[in-house]
Amino acid sequence: MSTLPYRGVADRREPDQSIANKTTIKNFGGNVEFQPRHRYQPTSETAVLNILAKHRGEQIRVLGAGHSWTPLIATDDVLVDMRHFDHVEVVESVHAGDADGPSGGPVVRVGAGCRIKDLLRALDQHGLTLPSIGLITEQSIAGAAVTGTHGSGRHCLSQYVVAARIACYDERGGELTPRIVEVSSGDELRAVRCSLGRLGVITELTIQCVPRYYVEERVVWGDTFEEMRSAERDWPLQQFFLIPHAWRYIAQRRRVAEDNTRRGFAAAYHVYFIVAIDVCLHVLIKLFKRSAGFVRLLYRQIFPRFVITGWGTTDRSDRQLTMKHHWFRHFELELFVQAGDAAKCSELVTDMLMFADDRAHEPSESTRDAIESADLSDAFAGIGSTYSHHYPICIRRVLADDTLIAMTSRAAGAAEGTTDWYAFSFITYRQPTDDFEATIGLLARVAAYQFGARMHWGKWSPLSHEVAAATYPEMQTFEAICRRLDPEGSFSGLARVARS
Ligand SMILES: Cc1cc2nc3c(=O)[nH]c(=O)nc-3n(C[C@H](O)[C@H](O)[C@H](O)COP(=O)(O)OP(=O)(O)OC[C@H]3O[C@@H](n4cnc5c(N)ncnc54)[C@H](O)[C@@H]3O)c2cc1C
Repeated sequence: MSTLPYRGVADRREPDQSIANKTTIKNFGGNVEFQPRHRYQPTSETAVLNILAKHRGEQIRVLGAGHSWTPLIATDDVLVDMRHFDHVEVVESVHAGDADGPSGGPVVRVGAGCRIKDLLRALDQHGLTLPSIGLITEQSIAGAAVTGTHGSGRHCLSQYVVAARIACYDERGGELTPRIVEVSSGDELRAVRCSLGRLGVITELTIQCVPRYYVEERVVWGDTFEEMRSAERDWPLQQFFLIPHAWRYIAQRRRVAEDNTRRGFAAAYHVYFIVAIDVCLHVLIKLFKRSAGFVRLLYRQIFPRFVITGWGTTDRSDRQLTMKHHWFRHFELELFVQAGDAAKCSELVTDMLMFADDRAHEPSESTRDAIESADLSDAFAGIGSTYSHHYPICIRRVLADDTLIAMTSRAAGAAEGTTDWYAFSFITYRQPTDDFEATIGLLARVAAYQFGARMHWGKWSPLSHEVAAATYPEMQTFEAICRRLDPEGSFSGLARVARS
């Protein structure tokens, strides 16, 4: 048992920072909407413990920045919004670690509700940064970590969590008492790293950081998945995109630069990227998302002219690795397959999207076999010529993680840490999302059957909890830890979710 001594108890003399009730809460994607009976914005651990004491036995959910598409934050009862927990304290000394915990390097103790962008700004003042970030930095650090948020070529953020303080229930003495526990090693740490708000309210995380680094980037086209993948030897941070309707790949080849100097007119590249890609391309997609003819023209003729290939630049990691993805509301599914299945999965994606666009398309034999073995041939026939996918499919390699249930945790039958994973992300701007859900949902179900694909915990998933859980060999260990820290299941329920 690796949990450190319990600290902190509820103190009714301190206010619990309840705020106006009857407010409707909506997530970023607008697909999760609910009205909690009680809503709090606590400013101290004691206030969080008071909330837990007051609402024992009710359904409690924790809100980060609301950027997940899954109903993880939804509750009819109690919502705890952690926005005021935003302190940042860099511990310059070497983190000692322990026998089974990570060790070495500087760490930061950060309030759970701190936005990643604010954390990066604070770390930069110490010449430090996070080892890994996703495409945006708007999320809260706890929300991002506990859903396995990832970038490309590194682990997901969860892996870099080395300790956490959690407000949860303690059953000692036969009575449930809210307490703060500190978790820093063993299976509890592996659970809390990707815990989906199931263990309690995380108040603070301790996260490994790395010296500030710069990233070299250049954009190139390619024709095959293997061609893209083989480039990762020299460009380990690369992410690449399958371009719909052109059915070719384009890569942002990336690697850590030798020194921290901005190069290759990086400021101009940054402006070009924001204007041409983040704004103009996205406005075009948004405006013409319903016109299959225009979408085809866009990716076959216009997009290749937007993209400047061969321009080599070097810039600070957080500038180079992110984009303004949050400027336009969208809806997303992301599936993960092990590296050995990634090329086949890419073929499946291409075939199914081509058929959805035009039923005259003949899928490959392996795609047909996959659909037949999943017993989904009729459903497949039904999507022909119903949906033209209108957003590039981002493909990212993510290293295997030492967590119980992150999407990149060990797969059944695989030795620990033996395989990388590839994440395929699917985005739509269309509302309602029915046609996207029919095609991409079917694709996800075939991939789950054929490759044991896992869905991003923070993004939309068509899989039942049972099917999703079956792909995690350590799910039962996770559930057992949830029961220990939350014996009455206050943090386990997913309440009613109204879809807009
Ligand atoms: C525009 C956009 C771009 C994105 N890009 C990426 C990307 O590149 N890579 C990627 O992997 N993901 C990406 N995501 C997904 C996103 O990173 C995750 O959904 C993440 O969980 C959002 O963080 P949040 O702070 O908004 O968490 P929320 O959505 O508020 O909450 C997510 C989960 O965390 C729990 N939680 C939050 N705070 C706490 C706490 N203090 N204690 C306990 N539990 C807590 C919640 O209860 C919930 O279960 C993107 C999302 C958007 C909208």
